[in-house]
Amino acid sequence: MSVLDLARPDLLALSGYSSARLEAGRDGILLNANESPWPLDHAAPLNRYPDPQPARLRARLAELYGVDAPRLLIGRGSDEMIDLLVRAFCRAGRDAIVVQPPAFGMYAVCAAVQGAAVRSVPLVRERGFAPDFDAVLAAVDAAVKLVFVCAPNNPTGGTPSRADVLALADALRGRALVVVDEAYVEFADAPSLAPEAGSRDNLVVLRTLSKAHALAGARIGCLIAAAEIVELLRKIMPPYPLPTPCVEAAEAALCAKALARTGDHIAATKLERERLRVALTTIRGVREVFSSQANFLTVRFDDAGARYRQLLARGIVVRDVRRYPGLEDALRITVGSPEQNAALLAELAQRLEITA
Ligand SMILES: *Cc1c(COP(=O)(O)O)cnc(C)c1O
Repeated sequence: MSVLDLARPDLLALSGYSSARLEAGRDGILLNANESPWPLDHAAPLNRYPDPQPARLRARLAELYGVDAPRLLIGRGSDEMIDLLVRAFCRAGRDAIVVQPPAFGMYAVCAAVQGAAVRSVPLVRERGFAPDFDAVLAAVDAAVKLVFVCAPNNPTGGTPSRADVLALADALRGRALVVVDEAYVEFADAPSLAPEAGSRDNLVVLRTLSKAHALAGARIGCLIAAAEIVELLRKIMPPYPLPTPCVEAAEAALCAKALARTGDHIAATKLERERLRVALTTIRGVREVFSSQANFLTVRFDDAGARYRQLLARGIVVRDVRRYPGLEDALRITVGSPEQNAALLAELAQRLEITA
């Protein structure tokens, strides 16, 4: 039994595009990729196609996440990894994914694009939007290939226990992949499951430089999985997915000095998160502030729509999450800098005075 038995059979036979850079590397007189021989005057020469999986960045990310490089695939954000997984494992019109709403919207969007069905197993509102993994197990039939677990969860901010996620993966071994989206794990108390993605072939972990590493504009994210899954996804990825300036920006963000600064920013965000949470509970019209393991707070208001418009009128943009099931009165507020958070609180308190 191989984990690839779960993948689309038609893809297993596909050889994948063999690019010039993949075939011969980038040393020597390069007359194999129809590139221009004249680099423009730029920080990094851009006349050459980049490495499909730049070795230095891959090694650096593998070290950072505590995994072997062959288990790691770099792409254009974890968004691309979600898309690749759905395309590789779900046959249109036949297979399905499981999501746990209120959940990150991309899982269902990618499934819809691929023609895969979406089974919803809602988080349990009465238990602080904790997942119901027994119900997830019950929802997995032969059609389900991927189970998405967002940890910490966007947009509720909570996170399942590591032991529960690992038990879910063990229970689904040979039946479905458990895809743990860890976009916000740097802000959580518990460590990443990335090192475990090696020991269980159906456990996949997604990481990104977009949030904690302040690199959303560079679009660099990773999948960590069994090496054969990485190889399969490489076959369906475009040949040169990673622009050279983005690779360089990622390398710069992972040097020791930048990592130290990132660590400071994560610590500051966690402090601000607690300060903001406490302050928000004192604002009139705030019904509930969800506890959060991420860099945002989801907040229930007496009149969330009016609050949203009030903030927007002052140029303060938060996320309206009222369309999510169970969050009909909620807004999601990213934890900003101390100055930004103070501006937010001042504006929300303003309304209190006006209406008092
Ligand atoms: C922001 C976010 C992503 C997307 O991350 P990118 O690496 O920028 O594509 C993935 N999952 C969740 C839950 C997110 O909130």
